[in-house]
Amino acid sequence: MGKFHIHPAVLEVARIFKQHHKEVFLVGGAVRDLVRGKDAKDWDLATNAKPGEVQAMFRRVIPTGIKHGTVTILYRGLSIETTTFRTEGTYSDGRRPDTIRFANTIEEDLSRRDFSMNALALELPEQRLVDPYDGQADIKKRIIRCVGEAAERFSEDGLRPLRAIRFAAQLQFSIEPNTLAAIPLALPITAKVAIERVRDELDKILGSEQPSQAFRLMEATGMLSLFLPELQACRNVEQKGFHQFDVLDHLLFSCDAAPRDKLVVRLAALLHDIGKPAVRAKDELGIWTFYRHEEVSTNMARDILSRLKYPNAVIDQVCHLISVHMFHYDDSWTDAAVRRFIVRVGEAALEDLLDLRRADTWGTFGKEPPAGLNQSLVDRVHRVLAKDKALSIKDLAVNGEDLAQLGIPRGPLMGRILKELFETVLDDPGQNTKETLLRIAQRLHEKLT
Ligand code: ATP
Ligand code: MG
Repeated sequence: MGKFHIHPAVLEVARIFKQHHKEVFLVGGAVRDLVRGKDAKDWDLATNAKPGEVQAMFRRVIPTGIKHGTVTILYRGLSIETTTFRTEGTYSDGRRPDTIRFANTIEEDLSRRDFSMNALALELPEQRLVDPYDGQADIKKRIIRCVGEAAERFSEDGLRPLRAIRFAAQLQFSIEPNTLAAIPLALPITAKVAIERVRDELDKILGSEQPSQAFRLMEATGMLSLFLPELQACRNVEQKGFHQFDVLDHLLFSCDAAPRDKLVVRLAALLHDIGKPAVRAKDELGIWTFYRHEEVSTNMARDILSRLKYPNAVIDQVCHLISVHMFHYDDSWTDAAVRRFIVRVGEAALEDLLDLRRADTWGTFGKEPPAGLNQSLVDRVHRVLAKDKALSIKDLAVNGEDLAQLGIPRGPLMGRILKELFETVLDDPGQNTKETLLRIAQRLHEKLT
């Protein structure tokens, strides 16, 4: 046989199991990916050997989750998670099984798994496929279907409905109608899931080709109102003029258009106008306005991302991008205006902000913006950066020591004078010489005291 490409180290590990007269199967995402014709990402095994027996068979093992029967085998550079066949008891809290029992057969083990495509096992090393729920056929039809009765499986673990939606976006599969219909009924259980598990799924959604697919399924099933009610509130919020989409569609298209490998930009795109429903007002001509929406959006994004327990560094970067996303560049900007723009945005965030702008434009028109969009701003920024390196107070030709020698006391007054000097240099980098700045500082000192 040998029809799938299995890593040779995994096959060696399997032979060691066989020498000990134990069964071993490749399970989970690896089999699903191989059947889809893709390379497996990680190699998870299931076996009838007990954790202690697995530990005794290999020299290098980590007791990853002995309670759940999981040991990680370190073998020729691979980390191979190996779990003893098990069944799960009831999930009275909708989060984790109350009891775990080891099982005797792979079939029993597969029966606890969530979807038919994830309930396949490939016996190693000979590669015999065990497929009690027609997972192979569902993969061919690109369908996500619960193992057994959907409503029951979702009530056991409230994360499963979100996993179904995440897989739909990740694999571009559709959810089988019975499975889909069971999602709204399971929401009270989904609401109890630990928020970190929800966030991990959101991260995977945001890393998929088209996150909007998942968000639309969340909307259709009521899950968007559960986890991101602020986004749901953007539905049917119409905008003015050249905006052809309501705020929610605009955000979803923008999110899709943001670079897939940049979580921060995808989050910023998804939330950059989230405050629009809250600030929308009609002006005297009856036209919708959204004054200061970037400020309100920034605050709301901070609340949402904190609630989802994102790391502070991610929250800060996303909120900063949202807070500076409203700029209107044209070639009439002076060099001083370009410098102020760079200082406000920060060099580190410039690239991300331009990505966000591109995504925002895409999300406004529903199609790819012209390749040259932003190019004249990018060129200007590069020219200014190459020419004038005084883009923070640290880059001034004078420092606190120099000012102290002029008799300016350290403290708020010196801070104010340094800021003024920096403003002067932003307007005219030609003034950034020690001699000129000391003269200006002297004058300011006399004026202010
Ligand atoms: P990926 O790693 O790409 O997210 P995966 O299918 O490997 O996909 P894991 O979360 O790594 O997903 O889980 C491995 C396997 O464990 C799944 O394929 C599935 O069989 C089972 N599984 C995981 N989570 C659940 C769950 N909540 N309920 C039932 N079975 C689950
Ligand atoms: Mg996996």
